Amino acid sequence: MCGIVGYIGERNCVPILINGLKRLEYRGYDSAGISVIFDHDSTVVKNKGKVSLLENKIENLNLSARLGIGHTRWATHGAPNELNAHPHFNAEKNLYVIHNGIIENYQTIKKGLQKLGYEFITQTDSEVLPHLIDSFIKKGNSLFKSVQLALGEVEGTYGIAVIYENEPDKIIAARKGSPLVLGIGENENFVASDVSAILAHTKQIVYLEDGDIIQVYKDHFTAKTILDKEVEKEVHEITMSLDEIDKGGFPHFMLKEIMEQPESIRNSMRGRILFDEGTSKLGGLESVADALAGSKRILISACGTSWHAGLVGKYMLEQFTRIPTEVEYASEFRYRNPIIEKGDTIFFISQSGETADTLAALRESKIRGALGLGICNVVGSSIARESNAGVYTHAGPEIGVASTKAFTSQLVVLSLITLLIARKKNMSLVDGKTIAGELSLIPDKISEILKLNYEIEKIANAFKDAKNFLYLGRGYNFPVALEGALKLKEISYIHAEGYPAAEMKHGPIALIDEKMPVVFIAPKDSTYEKIISNIQEVRARGGRIIAVASEKDNDIDKLVDYTIKIPDTIRMLMPLLTVIPLQLLAYHIAVKKGLNVDQPRNLAKSVTVE
Ligand code: GLU
Repeated sequence: MCGIVGYIGERNCVPILINGLKRLEYRGYDSAGISVIFDHDSTVVKNKGKVSLLENKIENLNLSARLGIGHTRWATHGAPNELNAHPHFNAEKNLYVIHNGIIENYQTIKKGLQKLGYEFITQTDSEVLPHLIDSFIKKGNSLFKSVQLALGEVEGTYGIAVIYENEPDKIIAARKGSPLVLGIGENENFVASDVSAILAHTKQIVYLEDGDIIQVYKDHFTAKTILDKEVEKEVHEITMSLDEIDKGGFPHFMLKEIMEQPESIRNSMRGRILFDEGTSKLGGLESVADALAGSKRILISACGTSWHAGLVGKYMLEQFTRIPTEVEYASEFRYRNPIIEKGDTIFFISQSGETADTLAALRESKIRGALGLGICNVVGSSIARESNAGVYTHAGPEIGVASTKAFTSQLVVLSLITLLIARKKNMSLVDGKTIAGELSLIPDKISEILKLNYEIEKIANAFKDAKNFLYLGRGYNFPVALEGALKLKEISYIHAEGYPAAEMKHGPIALIDEKMPVVFIAPKDSTYEKIISNIQEVRARGGRIIAVASEKDNDIDKLVDYTIKIPDTIRMLMPLLTVIPLQLLAYHIAVKKGLNVDQPRNLAKSVTVE
């Protein structure tokens, strides 16, 4: 998820690009770069880190041009350094490309181009684009045709903008799976990942659809599809404020990120499920896959929400790989002299990849000779760099302090790892295919659950003044109970606890009275009957009950005060669905209490202190 901006017109594009990139920084800030074209010449400037650093670098260069493109990166392939920063270019350095997305078949394309003599200087997937486009130009095609032909060979997602010294009157832009808009000005036009980057200059916006490719001149544009069909594009007048736009029209980043989950999960699994073989393909684990499958024991070390994901991971790994799995708080792991033996594998889960406790645990385990594997969202982060191997979750930048989409992406990655190991061990092809198939259906099922937003808001209204909350679940949904309680604590400051439902009678039941709301995660699975008994126990003591239940379960309505009905899936994937209503419930309760949802008191997004 990167930010893209482009300008063609009569003004100096450099400040326009820089200011546009600053507005897009929420989409990533690993590195930034621009390239501009003057009369028969061009240049590119890149820098690691935030856009302000690029701005400082450019200040001394006295750059002025009327055509240019800029990019702020959120790395998916290749470390977040200056070399891997966009724009990428061809050998002659006269053709420049910025890219948002992932080119899944970049290795195949790269090998083909290398055979033709093309040399690659970065570790990114994106660098194949300038060379591939260049190869079509060298066959006599126009820039537009060459981009079209190149994209015809690309699998994966992209929002791109391309400029070329020999055709200095245009920007070519195209999208598939990554957002892109065209802004129409007076004798000037813009392209951008979203309108916030260009709203200072125009309110006339054309939204590109997947498969669209446009030629943008300073005074007009033409649109086609990648497959060369004509398309009609409508111009929209924007009325939203800038703040609303940054949040994608949502009032808070947290809600935006909750709503993004069908997409972020798709990104986490993109190119990683092998449906015919009923397994997964995780590039980052290829070098250690056999050692992983041969592990005598697996440890998972993490903090907070990532620890809850780890707990779901334990259930999955033990059920399907039969490898004993333990989940440890990273802080405890480090200080209690843990037993680590040859043949142990340790996963370190952290959204930011910088969580101090988890990083310290990783370092400690490496000293003791364990295989340390990272599961991180931020590419090139410390845990990603220091672990022996790992998997990125590809959830995109998460800005809301209370983690939502990073959690579900961690669950996806853990299920892919489980599939990988289990299929290497004793899982049958049929079972592998079932899991792969069910996993691919999850994003659409989450979209269904998100439609209940308004209903959940009404439930939140009824409970916003509660002082305590209890969350109960069994099996795979016990960690979800913990996560639901944590979300509520974090943003609404209501005391909440998660318990395995059966544990209730061993203590927490003493707390139940008519003031105590209890959230039951009660989908129809093998523990359903037992959980219904627990519901009865709470009911008998006057507790107020919210149940997250299966959509076909009509019996439960009579027993509880509120039900939130969700689609079914296989047990191991159920947490991906059951957690969604709990995220929304916590969000709406906090909003109704008038609290700062995106920046709750005392918390920080990435906990880099021990
Ligand atoms: N895959 C590209 C890179 O790593 C673009 C990243 C993105 O859009 O997230 O540079």
